[in-house]
Amino acid sequence: MFTAEEKKRIPYKIYLSESELPRAWYNLRADMKNKPAPLLNAATKAPITKEELAPVFCDELIEQELNDTDAYFPIPEEIVDFYKMYRPAPLIRAYCLEEKLGTPAKIYYKFEGNNTSGSHKLNSAIAQAYYAKKQGLKGVTTETGAGQWGTALSMACSYFGLDCKVYMVKCSYEQKPFRREVMRVYGANVTPSPSMETEVGRKINAEHPGTSGSLGCAISEAVEAAQNLDGYRYVLGSVLNQVMLHQTVIGLETKTAMDKYGVKPDVIIGCAGGGSNLGGLIAPFMGEKLRGEADYRFIAVEPASCPSFTRGKFAYDYCDTGMICPLAKMCTLGSDFIPAPNHSGGLRYHGMNPILSQLYADGLMEAVTVQQTEVFAAAEEFARVEGILPAPESSHAIKVAIDEALKCKETGEEKVILFGLTGTGYFDMYAYEKFHDGKMENYIPTDEEIAKGQRNLPNV
Ligand SMILES: *Cc1c(COP(=O)(O)O)cnc(C)c1O
Repeated sequence: MFTAEEKKRIPYKIYLSESELPRAWYNLRADMKNKPAPLLNAATKAPITKEELAPVFCDELIEQELNDTDAYFPIPEEIVDFYKMYRPAPLIRAYCLEEKLGTPAKIYYKFEGNNTSGSHKLNSAIAQAYYAKKQGLKGVTTETGAGQWGTALSMACSYFGLDCKVYMVKCSYEQKPFRREVMRVYGANVTPSPSMETEVGRKINAEHPGTSGSLGCAISEAVEAAQNLDGYRYVLGSVLNQVMLHQTVIGLETKTAMDKYGVKPDVIIGCAGGGSNLGGLIAPFMGEKLRGEADYRFIAVEPASCPSFTRGKFAYDYCDTGMICPLAKMCTLGSDFIPAPNHSGGLRYHGMNPILSQLYADGLMEAVTVQQTEVFAAAEEFARVEGILPAPESSHAIKVAIDEALKCKETGEEKVILFGLTGTGYFDMYAYEKFHDGKMENYIPTDEEIAKGQRNLPNV
């Protein structure tokens, strides 16, 4: 257990000052010996060029996406100014949770839920909206699953006076009407996906009548809309290297805060949907590991219902159901994989960020899966002592952090555990209700279902 002196030395909340905000994002690829494989043109299977990406993505974001040599990208002043509204985010020492668990482990979490969008997604949304505005565009299109990304992007677009068109996975559109309304508060146009507005939406509706939709399918619709609308580009809230790049503000702040107090984490844990928060949190620490300066254990936590790292293939795959996007080499369940509807909303994507996929394939990172009901049990245990009502996605990391802390209780080890608390769960009360009423089910896809999702992996 912690001592009174320790409590005096390390505050519950470690806040950095405005002047300690990171001024550059860190590009982990610069320190990787095995670089992630290049994105390929889905038709020619040749590495994709900037020119080919230009009709879909914003120019500066393409530069960031393809750059695997420059270690730092300065954060434009306009973005730093926006960050100042809600950053630096606090790093919290979970004294209350430690006490409750009776563990000698020292637990820290970086809390990203202190903004209206309720998650870390705003860190990249504001950057992407800024570059779109700078390019003189009228607006952007995107998809959203659970709704956090759509909300963050709506806020960012309204700040810069851009139009925002969101394709929201149909089941979320129906299950989370309040999320939808928050987006509309910020002026976004929200369409349930698959819709009848796009060619790919009409095709998917015809092939799967009554489908509740998927992220892969909403992405296809958003990409098609961006290509057909004059002055629009497509933006994405996870998976891409540029998104992970922007999210490194999380890890950079965390590292500064820990260094300030002379604390070094032994194990770093994050939930993984497309990998952006996990990648952003671990990047500066992984950089040290890659350069041989320090060693850490990294654990990705994914839902058992959508296990891209642990049961996926490391192969080139389509990023979307409509097969319009470039091919990425990643840990994937196949773009045909449609996960069972569950409440880990933001963790239901079939693939994983290419940088993290490469690190995982090279044995530099571990991954585990957890079941939905144990995640909610951990969420409540956490909420009751730490006060914050966590998002279901974030609670995957909580579950594994608690498990690690309990292992320390058995062995008596005083490990330092760090995890990312990506957001709050106020729009997920329907899921909490199901959990309380004993109606929440766990789902593990069979090997056959996974093989089926992967049957159309492209031949590369
Ligand atoms: C979107 C989301 C995630 C998962 O996305 P990553 O790109 O894997 O970080 C996790 N937590 C919250 C709260 C989210 O909104």
